[in-house]
Amino acid sequence: MKLITNGLIWRGPGTDPRHRLENILIEGGRITAVGPEVAREGAEVIDAAGMLVLPGLVNAHFHSPVNHMKGQLPSLPLELFMLYESPALEVLRPTPREAYVRTLLACMEMLRSGVTAVQDDAFFVPHPTPEIIDAVAQAYEDCGIRARLALDQSDLPEAAKLPYLADLVPPEWRAALAAPPAFGRAGLLECYDHLISRWHGAAGGRLRAAASCSAPQRVTPDYAAALQALAERHDLPLYIHILETRTQRAFGEERLGGRSLVHLADELGLLSPHANVIHAIWVDDGDLDLIARRGAVIAHNPISNLRLGSGVMRFRAIRDRAIPVALGSDEAIADDAVNMWAVAKMTGLIHNIGAADYATWPSAGEVLDCLIAGGHAAMRNADIGAIAPGQAADLALLDLDTLAFTPLNDLARQLVYCETGSSVRLTMVAGQVVFAEDRITTLDEPALRAEARAIAAGRREALEQAAAEVAPLLPAYREMYLRAAARDVGMNRWIGTGDGPC
Ligand SMILES: [Zn+2]
Repeated sequence: MKLITNGLIWRGPGTDPRHRLENILIEGGRITAVGPEVAREGAEVIDAAGMLVLPGLVNAHFHSPVNHMKGQLPSLPLELFMLYESPALEVLRPTPREAYVRTLLACMEMLRSGVTAVQDDAFFVPHPTPEIIDAVAQAYEDCGIRARLALDQSDLPEAAKLPYLADLVPPEWRAALAAPPAFGRAGLLECYDHLISRWHGAAGGRLRAAASCSAPQRVTPDYAAALQALAERHDLPLYIHILETRTQRAFGEERLGGRSLVHLADELGLLSPHANVIHAIWVDDGDLDLIARRGAVIAHNPISNLRLGSGVMRFRAIRDRAIPVALGSDEAIADDAVNMWAVAKMTGLIHNIGAADYATWPSAGEVLDCLIAGGHAAMRNADIGAIAPGQAADLALLDLDTLAFTPLNDLARQLVYCETGSSVRLTMVAGQVVFAEDRITTLDEPALRAEARAIAAGRREALEQAAAEVAPLLPAYREMYLRAAARDVGMNRWIGTGDGPC
């Protein structure tokens, strides 16, 4: 039982520092009372004088398996980038301890900055196993964060997933690229059985499974149907990357007779209220209407979208259709920090160049709504994200005596445009204090950082070997990308392309 005292409670953009300070009673991981007079004998007191009490942030789209690769790659388009990050090479198979430690690297960044929940669309090279799933889930259990975990794998050959490529690769690679993954649908579904039976609802419900088809062009109809059935049976979010890149729009033109990948996803039965449509950049009005009709959520990753040159999502067109928007950092080599404050700020900035009419630009309140409520909608959390009785006690306490809030002019705008995470003094998940007094209470951070460095040093050779193995493919991938870039796809989501480099 805990009592947070004398905090300024966040109740949306109208929250004012002149409001009365209030107390929050927390019992059994939930908020049971909020108000100026709330008290309870024997409760452990957390003094929040001078602090803002904010619902914890949500990182709604993330891939933990490359947490150790921040800063590893230059900026590259997604299709080339993925050659380096996820080739199904045996040399890249992690040990369970390696997977555990690297998962915790990002958890440390998130908990320190007030992120209380994450959706991990985890891909595993060369393929998932029960031991590796256990290692990742155990990391989430041990550090105290709330997490959804999915297995982001494809069951189609590489050449089936990308336009033009089959004709462009060197002849000696053609058979390999035309072969389906050795670890196919049956093995993947067994891994889902393990994930769900062992971890779905573990740690008092803090850990839950999710389903992932990676992307509609990366799975067979049978596997897509099996994943959708899992999502419905267990009430899981279903992660699906759609139209992140121009190359993917060109794929629809070349391979689907002009239909978009949003329509392919719908034909596969994957668009529903369970769906987290990730990126949704190269979509048209018809695609957005369909996403809205099916009740799906969109996960927006504006920093990753710039790092990989993917493009600018149509934020206002999406919000105008009342499609819930959640925010994500995406993976730690495509951000490369795991900092949701930076993601929020980018969301608040990038769309200002999307339309001349400044009345359509995102407000700070809208961005915060995406960051918290949108994230919980994506996670299918019904009772998390507000400071009210009955809600889970997932909270961040921010010191208002920091430069970010000095002087305090507008709380919502300063949260979005000034805060970097450095004002967070305490993070609580399900009533457990997981970060306070500048340390994560659940982990030995210095020891884990040292171990992560040692593991990375031991892995350097394997990463170089993997890069060397895929190097002969680079010219073909570049040519594929350039062909797609030159094809008319009836829209533009890039900027600065009109008059040459800017
Ligand atoms: Zn992703």
